[in-house]
Amino acid sequence: MRLIFLGPPGAGKGTQASILGENLGILHISTGELLRQERKDKTERGVEAQSYIDQGALVPDRVVMEIVHEQLTKPEAKKGWILDGFPRNVSQAGVLDGLLMGMAQQTYNCVISFEVPEKVLIERLKKRGRTDDTLEVLRNRLKSYHEETAPLIDFYSDRKKLEIINGFMSRESVASALKEVVEDLKKNI
Ligand code: AMP
Repeated sequence: MRLIFLGPPGAGKGTQASILGENLGILHISTGELLRQERKDKTERGVEAQSYIDQGALVPDRVVMEIVHEQLTKPEAKKGWILDGFPRNVSQAGVLDGLLMGMAQQTYNCVISFEVPEKVLIERLKKRGRTDDTLEVLRNRLKSYHEETAPLIDFYSDRKKLEIINGFMSRESVASALKEVVEDLKKNI
């Protein structure tokens, strides 16, 4: 199973990707987590990414693509994966398509978009307390979502790859809605 999770910050993608990844025994690839780890380890990429993360802006595609490439070429990725927080713009989506084709790896089965009302997102993010969760940075992250990431909804919908999940429910309800989508997908593999 190969899935892409799409949605604004605070939509619950990360939590759901972690649960589902474990249940299905597939790799959970969160570019945000990987970038934060690199920042902590002060790698060259981490140092480059830092100011973008701190401002709530997107890290340059080149840096993110390198990380994604490394993850998708890991032996564990053969069993399947969930991309969480990637792609974040149409250009990354295009590069991903090329990358998967070049690796002769089959493409993603589905893109799942988590929808949550903006007011709820802000409340959830304020509670989370990550260093990039201050109000000003949050506004930037939501802005970058609307301007750069949200166009991916049409991009994948045009390709007939999109499923929408209501993320404004309890963690358990979202997980079970997701499970249903995955069961349906399995029938078509
Ligand atoms: P996240 O944990 O997905 O909310 O990501 C945290 C931060 O990491 C974002 O605000 C961006 O600065 C950066 N980031 C994560 N994924 C990407 C991506 N696919 N492209 C560019 N920047 C990213």
